[in-house]
Amino acid sequence: MAHSVTLIPGDGIGPELAEATRRVLDSTGVDFEWDVQHAGADVMDQHGGNPLPDHVLESIARNGVALKGPITTPVGTGFRSVNVTLRKTLDLYGQVRPCKSYQGVRSRYEDVDLIVVREATEDLYAGIEFEEGSEDAHELIEWIERHGAHVRADAGISIKPISIAGTRRIVEFAFDYARRNGRRKVTAVHKANIMKFSDGLWLRVAREVAEENADVEFEDRIVDNLCMQLVQRPDEYDVLVLPNLYGDIVSDLCAGLVGGLGLAPGANFGTKAAVFEPTHGSAPKYAGQNKANPMAMMLSGVLMLRHLEETDAADRVERAIADVVAEGESVTYDMKPSRDDPTAVGTSDVADAIIDKLGVTV
Ligand code: NAD
Repeated sequence: MAHSVTLIPGDGIGPELAEATRRVLDSTGVDFEWDVQHAGADVMDQHGGNPLPDHVLESIARNGVALKGPITTPVGTGFRSVNVTLRKTLDLYGQVRPCKSYQGVRSRYEDVDLIVVREATEDLYAGIEFEEGSEDAHELIEWIERHGAHVRADAGISIKPISIAGTRRIVEFAFDYARRNGRRKVTAVHKANIMKFSDGLWLRVAREVAEENADVEFEDRIVDNLCMQLVQRPDEYDVLVLPNLYGDIVSDLCAGLVGGLGLAPGANFGTKAAVFEPTHGSAPKYAGQNKANPMAMMLSGVLMLRHLEETDAADRVERAIADVVAEGESVTYDMKPSRDDPTAVGTSDVADAIIDKLGVTV
């Protein structure tokens, strides 16, 4: 049976990467029915100024699975980020970013193989903010003073909510992910020694969930200590589960350990759907130039294949990408020793090389 998947090409370099990725996935022999949907600034005029029209959300909810290219968020225009709206509307609470070393990628480390699981709906990113000098900020500061604490009158305030339910579902998700993917250990990351009622709650609930999942090893780490240890001994870690802000920062640190954004895929899991997309953005300066590296989006496609339980196809695509990277010939400029290397190939050539490796003619 064909897998119905919503394909959102995105903008900037997104459409080229989406096309290259679709060709690779189609050449695995797995049957896809692509439901192509457009979102972003380029289509908002056709939909009453809405960059994420309802029919796009309906398509994702109907198919339950989407593969998405990056979408630009214009700065300072009051434009709602499509990515944030998507995450909120579909309750995409679990972001997964695997960070894995591939032979041939320039990096200071070898054999890194980490999974970062980031809670994506709570914490300081919940969007509950009070601007310095506003009436609401003054009111809140007065309320805090009445309750025995002190905040300077000229402070801006961001609220950090971390709930039992939100923590439970992401830590359970991390254990499920670990079990399904044959991983050995889950590390819960926090700063519970300082923020007792938010991170403290997170740690307490994580420990409860760990007791219910005793077949997978569990430990916890304070976030600053974790960062130092990741740089010194990344091999000591396996699956990391983190609240929103630490997850955002630590996933970039881990991407840095394995050579940067070029090979950093991502997945967003929610109660209604799963959306697979590269970690990088739309790099508008390279749009339409057949120059950008499609491998992070292709590896996001590998995560999607695994989610669809097409394990054999996932393994084959991942191996084909790893072979092309290791050979170092059919790779884009960013994976060459120098950025102006004349032997760098284009986005579509990378797809051709990977399809060749897959040994299937399309
Ligand atoms: P970016 O990741 O788009 O680009 C930063 C730099 O990284 C680029 O200039 C380029 O040198 C390099 N780069 C990124 N992807 C590459 C690729 N596939 N191949 C080769 N080089 C690549 O980050 P940015 O410039 O901060 O953001 C640009 C836009 O993308 C912004 O509007 C931002 O909001 C958006 N964005 C979207 C998503 C998403 O859709 N999930 C994620 C991040 C950023």
